[in-house]
Amino acid sequence: MRRLCSAADLMEARLLLDLLEHAYIPARLFNEHAQGGVGDIPFTHAYPEVWVVNDGDFGRGLALVRAFERTPSDARVVFCRACGEENPRNFQLCWHCGAGLESIP
Ligand SMILES: [Zn+2]
Repeated sequence: MRRLCSAADLMEARLLLDLLEHAYIPARLFNEHAQGGVGDIPFTHAYPEVWVVNDGDFGRGLALVRAFERTPSDARVVFCRACGEENPRNFQLCWHCGAGLESIP
């Protein structure tokens, strides 16, 4: 196990896990629930962390993370036309209201 990166938020962490999964790199998410207490998060609260299970995958995983970080954040999300909620681009359905998401080219 080796820590690959920490993510800005849970949505980003999930996207990274998804990317790794598609590259057949087993990975785990830690601190998933660290941001549960909205409103009284200490300044030093822990960010979600993405770890690779096999140390040998670290280099490949890091390359994916770097590529991800170079992608502008607005290119990673789509907005639901039904409720306006922000969704990761790879989602088929809005996590909030369940409406189908059309991918915008
Ligand atoms: Zn929606």
